[in-house]
Amino acid sequence: MTKKCKSEKLKHALNMDFFSRYPALFLFISLGNLHNKNSGYPIGGSLPFARLLEKKYLGLEGRIRYKSKVTKINTKNNQVIGITLENGEIHNDADIVISAADGYYTIFKMLEEKYMDNKIKKLYDEHPRWPSMVLVSLGISRTFKNEPTSIELHLDKELTIDKKSKLNSIPITIYNFDPTLAPEGKTCMRVMLKTDNYQYWDSLRKSNIEGYNQEKDRLTQEIIIILDKRFGNIVNNIEVINVATPATFHRHTNNWMGSTQGWNWLPSLIPESIKKELPGLKNFYLIGQWTTPGGGVSTAFLSGRDIYPNYL
Ligand SMILES: Cc1cc2nc3c(=O)[nH]c(=O)nc-3n(C[C@H](O)[C@H](O)[C@H](O)COP(=O)(O)OP(=O)(O)OC[C@H]3O[C@@H](n4cnc5c(N)ncnc54)[C@H](O)[C@@H]3O)c2cc1C
Repeated sequence: MTKKCKSEKLKHALNMDFFSRYPALFLFISLGNLHNKNSGYPIGGSLPFARLLEKKYLGLEGRIRYKSKVTKINTKNNQVIGITLENGEIHNDADIVISAADGYYTIFKMLEEKYMDNKIKKLYDEHPRWPSMVLVSLGISRTFKNEPTSIELHLDKELTIDKKSKLNSIPITIYNFDPTLAPEGKTCMRVMLKTDNYQYWDSLRKSNIEGYNQEKDRLTQEIIIILDKRFGNIVNNIEVINVATPATFHRHTNNWMGSTQGWNWLPSLIPESIKKELPGLKNFYLIGQWTTPGGGVSTAFLSGRDIYPNYL
């Protein structure tokens, strides 16, 4: 895609992680959608966005039970009849069950590997996942009015995230476009540090919580120094620090290995190759990012909408 680029900087930018793995068309679809205001950033971030859907669903007399982990999908004669919750409650009065949860947990744990074929096994054994990340969010008591909202900052020295992950550049988002995220005169800033090393962060948290917190502090301090060097006036203006690791993403979303977007979108995996029904199981659908390579919010919605005609 970038062979004909005369500018080395533009070539580098277009070849960065995202575009190197996506067809060029994707860039133009994204830019076109942004231009036509078909996509964008929801002011307030994901919570008010999710609340809109919650309101609509409740308005249609839907019911939601929060803090209710499903541990088993109950079946009878290869037909789904309901679910079992972590607290032991059993609900066996379902016409259909749709899992929008993590694909691995659904197939391998909730359904105990009983409804899978070689294709599904190969997918989960071999296809690369979207990595996880350490997400450093800072509340800073100053503004960044003349700065862009997104920066890919190239580092003088490699930054070590963990033993497996080292970065030469870091993506920074300055939320100077969303006044709801910080009081006036202050700014929320986010740095995403990609890592595939879920096992390290998860086992450190489980075996040595002090060491885990120290590692989070170490990374945060390194990030603050990098940001201070780039923007100035940061070190003494930090008011809030929040750090999420792959273990945090797993604890909050149950996503396999703390993956943030499910399957990596590579030419070897097209969306049509992942079925939303499982072999030999009736009245069940799996939707969400583990059925739509590349993940993302809109594709997760779409995957749910796509099963609708099947059970009308
Ligand atoms: C920091 C970050 C930034 C991102 N930025 C973007 C972006 O800008 N644009 C974009 O399109 N995408 C973005 N993504 C990716 C996007 O968030 C995901 O691809 C999308 O949320 C996937 O939706 P989903 O419904 O399939 O799964 P999830 O959002 O993971 O939802 C699954 C839900 O199921 C629940 N659950 C799991 N297991 C169980 C269980 N056993 N019982 C009950 N409930 C369960 C979880 O708690 C969760 O609420 C980002 C992700 C991260 C982490």
